[in-house]
Amino acid sequence: MTRYIFITGGVVSSLGKGLTSAALGALLQARGYGVRLRKLDPYLNVDPGTLSPFEHGEVFVTDDGAETDLDIGHYERFTGVAASSLDSTSSGRIYQTVLDKERQGEYLGETIQVIPHVTDEIKRFISQDFEDTDFMLCEIGGTVGDIEGLPFFEAIRQFAQEKGPGNCIFIHVTLIPYLNVCNEIKTKPTQHSVKELRSIGIAPDILVCRSNLPIPDKERKKIALFCNVDQDAVISSPDMNSIYEAPTLYHEEGLDSAVLKAFGIKSFPETNLSKWYEVKERIDNPDGKVRVAIVGKYTGLEDAYKSINEALTHGGIANRVEVETKWIQAEVFEEEDPAPYLTGCHAILIPGGFGKRGSEGKIKAAGFARKNQVPYFGICLGMQMAVIELVRDLLGIDSAGSEEFSMEEQENSSEDLTPVIFYLKKWVHEGKKITRSEKDEKGATMRLGSYPAKLTKGSIVEKIYGSCEISERHRHRYEVDIKYKDRLESEGVLFSGMSPDGNLPEIMELKKHPWFIGVQFHPELKSQPFNPHPLFAGFIKAAIKRSRLV
Ligand code: GLN
Repeated sequence: MTRYIFITGGVVSSLGKGLTSAALGALLQARGYGVRLRKLDPYLNVDPGTLSPFEHGEVFVTDDGAETDLDIGHYERFTGVAASSLDSTSSGRIYQTVLDKERQGEYLGETIQVIPHVTDEIKRFISQDFEDTDFMLCEIGGTVGDIEGLPFFEAIRQFAQEKGPGNCIFIHVTLIPYLNVCNEIKTKPTQHSVKELRSIGIAPDILVCRSNLPIPDKERKKIALFCNVDQDAVISSPDMNSIYEAPTLYHEEGLDSAVLKAFGIKSFPETNLSKWYEVKERIDNPDGKVRVAIVGKYTGLEDAYKSINEALTHGGIANRVEVETKWIQAEVFEEEDPAPYLTGCHAILIPGGFGKRGSEGKIKAAGFARKNQVPYFGICLGMQMAVIELVRDLLGIDSAGSEEFSMEEQENSSEDLTPVIFYLKKWVHEGKKITRSEKDEKGATMRLGSYPAKLTKGSIVEKIYGSCEISERHRHRYEVDIKYKDRLESEGVLFSGMSPDGNLPEIMELKKHPWFIGVQFHPELKSQPFNPHPLFAGFIKAAIKRSRLV
């Protein structure tokens, strides 16, 4: 029998509901339970693929090619359970399904309404397709009181009512602000938020109270009394040094036992949190520090590169060092010499990205890393920029560039461009032929999800992965043209990972360089703190070596 845990948020956004859900998933696993996590977002985009990373943070891609919210990344990193396209939805997708059904005549004769048609579709999403896992955790995006969230709150209320007592619980993540002027923490916003929740028929079982400082017992008592929850169910969630402290901290605060108690489960299995204590110990006691420069476009918002940030931390955990990141706007290098910015960094990473802006700066940064023997990791766009730099410098083709950039410019300026990176219009995925054209819709039309690659025996990446067969997640439209493969390989480049049909370069490395690797996929999406991605572990190891030289 599956039990359902609904996680909602109150007072303000960005309280870390996703993190709380992920950490709770890990805690339940630590007691031997099976978990699955889902996210329901109230925005009207069908998926976050068309949202700006500046506004909404990164797009997380699942193995089956869904473009999802970054919280799905937290779920995977904390639980190791791979999410699928069935684990994330939005108002846009729900409405699209309802409207498609209406057009197909599934509701002939009926007036289509938010209740019951939209709420039924939300309920169907929550309970669709999963094996009898012990706990299903469903996080509702946004904050209680938002107009667009209402159908979701109504649907989970109905869902719990239909499942009957003891099958569903509600956790409300809320803010307890600390006011400097009177040196007090304030419980009133939380009381109001719970009142709002109750007014739509949901009584929370557990309150996770985010605050700068731990919440004293006196205030916990007060919150419990006014919000009508057990005092043990008021969980203090102070700011943490690292997000990976969350499972152990929440356990010490009693979150997992409060959850099991709320379900009426009396005898709990023992908790085994040893791997989380080990992760915490490594983060708290590093043997040194390395500085990694990240040259990108969305550097103003760290969430835009969430998984990269986390994967670098995991690489640090693997090597027992702290990883300090230095974010640099790629555009800066279009005017200025990169040397003063990059000297002093022990490694350079160019992450994925879209559009022409900053590309020449990224190409310069890749060139700096190559010529100065600085470890370089190019991810997706970062690999494409490195290849352009190599073609320009080693093959002398100054006009080398990407079709992505010429397509952006309406007037056809492609005459003076030699496309080394081209728009892929036909490929095969799991036996299915896929075709694309410039006229395609923008949503979900990239090469998305897991694709296999074959690695060259004896290459650096084969050693790193310990295998010649890999599978990694993709999200891009453009590809490196193999036309240049042979000529580049005679200049010391090795295309050490190729698609199984040998047509698409998946990985490139430099032979005479301590660590220069470009990958067409997104390895950061599969890294976990207790299972760091080998490429990130290897990259940080190379950064440590570099730090000893300079
Ligand atoms: N813009 C590039 C492409 O679509 C790279 C995408 C990425 O870095 N994810 O191919």
